[in-house]
Order: sequence, then C-alpha cells, then structure tokens
Amino acid sequence: MAVWERIGSRGDVEDRRGMSTVAGGIGVVGIALIAGITLLAGGDLGDVANNIFSIVEDQGLTQQNTQEFEGEDSYERFASTVLGSNNDMWNQIFQQQNRAYTTPKLVLFRNATQSGCGIATSDVGPHYCPFDRTIYLDETFFDELKTYLGGSNEDVAQAYVISHEVGHHIQNILGDLEGRQTNEDSIKIELQADCYAGLWGNYISDLNILEPNEIQEAIDAASAVGDDRIQQKVEGQINPETWTHGSSAQRVESFNKGYTTGDFNSCRL
Ligand SMILES: [Zn+2]
Repeated sequence: MAVWERIGSRGDVEDRRGMSTVAGGIGVVGIALIAGITLLAGGDLGDVANNIFSIVEDQGLTQQNTQEFEGEDSYERFASTVLGSNNDMWNQIFQQQNRAYTTPKLVLFRNATQSGCGIATSDVGPHYCPFDRTIYLDETFFDELKTYLGGSNEDVAQAYVISHEVGHHIQNILGDLEGRQTNEDSIKIELQADCYAGLWGNYISDLNILEPNEIQEAIDAASAVGDDRIQQKVEGQINPETWTHGSSAQRVESFNKGYTTGDFNSCRL
C-alpha cells in the first residue's frame, strides 16, 4: 500500500455514488456510433468484455439516493490524490513546453450516470469523455478485474487505471483524439495512454511513497487488460483484427517506456 497521505495535491472529484442511477430501458444505438464513442471514451475493459457502450435513454433512469457515500470517504480521497498527483506532473510537463494545462474532472458513480458522451454505465469500465473532459469511474470495476482477469486490484493498479484515463485527457487537450476512427488508431491511442500512465509511475516513484517493487501492481494491471488476454478469457479465442487496446505485451511495453524514461517524448504516437 502506497503512502498516499504524503501527496498533498488533490484533483477535482465529484462523488455521485450516493445518487446511483439504475439504467432501465437500454436503447443501444447503431454499431458505428457505438464504436465511435467507445473509441473516444476509451472504455478500457468493458467494451471488449461486454461488447457494448450502452446508450441508455434518459427517461429510463431511476435515481436512488442513499446516505452511504455522504461525506468524503477514503476512496474519494484516494482518487482525488491520484488525480492531483497526475495534475502536478502534467502541469510541469506542459510548462516545459510553454503550454497551459487544464485539469480534468473525475466522477465516481455506481451503475450509470449522465455524462457528456451519453449515459456512462459501469459495464463500460473506467473511461474518459472528451466532450465534458471528465473521467467516469465505478470502482467496483476493480473487483471485476480481479475476478475475471486475475489482475491486481490493489491501490497502485487502480492508480494506473486513473492515470491511463488522465492520459486520454492529455490526448484530448493536445488534439490527438481527433479524426481517429479505425481499430489501429484506437490501439495507438490506448498504448500512448499506457505510456502516459508509465510517466506518472516514474513521477511517483521519485516521491518515495511506494513500497519496493510496488509498481509491479500497475504492470500486472496493464497486462490484465490486454485485448488478447481479455478475448481469451471472454471469447475463448484471440482475433487481433478486432483489437482496440493492444495486447498484454504491448500494453506492458508502453507502460514501461514511460516508466523507465520518464520522458514525455518517449510516448509520441
Ligand atoms: Zn483507454
């Protein structure tokens, strides 16, 4: 367990877990639209595991208000700290390039919630919506990651996933998500987001908050969400033509590129 308390920075987190929305009447819109939004939003497990980006009609949503998530809990603090440390690093990198960095927002939710890309559902897995510059995260995804893929669901693995989503935010503000529609484009974008997460791994390693070799949790998580590993598990066979995120080996390699060099330029598309 990393010593997150040593990082004072905080990101912009909105906790909607207490207003969890139950998706009724799922209206799945055409495949092309789904593929486009999945690519933009970068659902990092669910799109393959469940073959969806469910677009739920607004009228099918039911709000369930609970007291359970009132006040800031440790998970909210954790997510905010990971986001804050990413913001610190990207601020530095952007400054070195004479650019202005704008921070993303992170929404914690359960089941489904409204996003700038339609209705975000838990099935999609953690993802980033470029239209409202927001990361959507239902942290119960990490239990799924562990159950189905044997990936780690420890804190550093989860921090890797959040940092990968911040990577999509970077691509968005640099204009790198525009006009990318093919699976090949998608893989490049995903691998670059892994490289960006690796940069963050390098950055926090210097902060001395990790236990020895704890970064391995992030590497194991990157491997667990490789397309080949997920397809083997979910479909029982591997079809590289349908990949959108890259193989386990490619994802680990990309993470390591950012992690070992700590150099933004090593992550070029
Ligand atoms: Zn992604």
